[in-house]
Amino acid sequence: MSPVDLTVILGPMKSGKSLELVSLLSPLQYTDARHRVFQSARHVRDAGVMSRSGAALATVKTTSLATALDEELDVVGIDEVHMFALADMEVVRLLLARGTRVVAAGIDLDHRGELFAPVRALLELGPASVTYRRAVCDRCRGFSAVYTQVLEHGEPFLRELAPSTALPDDGTYTYEARCRACVALPRPLAVPR
Ligand SMILES: [Zn+2]
Repeated sequence: MSPVDLTVILGPMKSGKSLELVSLLSPLQYTDARHRVFQSARHVRDAGVMSRSGAALATVKTTSLATALDEELDVVGIDEVHMFALADMEVVRLLLARGTRVVAAGIDLDHRGELFAPVRALLELGPASVTYRRAVCDRCRGFSAVYTQVLEHGEPFLRELAPSTALPDDGTYTYEARCRACVALPRPLAVPR
């Protein structure tokens, strides 16, 4: 891994993104690299700790990544990057410009099956590495889930909200990992004519 650059880890829920973030960043605690891992204050599940496997990293909750500019850091980790705002990706650009290495993990596709705007902005920064992870489909059990299916009262949520709407993780909705065959999106794939 190049010392100063952008590493991006993407995939649906339950695809092990946080585990990968933990494995990349946890060795830093044994070095003198100044580092911090940020989570959106909108993320309410398991405060501070991340991977479903039990591996953990200390995290700082923030409403804006601009917090990361307040101190001299060698490495900045961002968990659930899709929950941040587009303006926060401008902060990532500034961090990279001042020589800070950034490792960001998050869900790539929103409830419509389209890229979250902050994720698209990250990709436009030209990351040195992008890892796409898959999950086991909660419906057919194939290891091919690329979508995060939003469910409302157990049924697919098919209303189309504004692009990049990050739905809350507070129990209002439930989420499943789904493959292309099993996902139900607001706008079904149409055959071009
Ligand atoms: Zn499936």
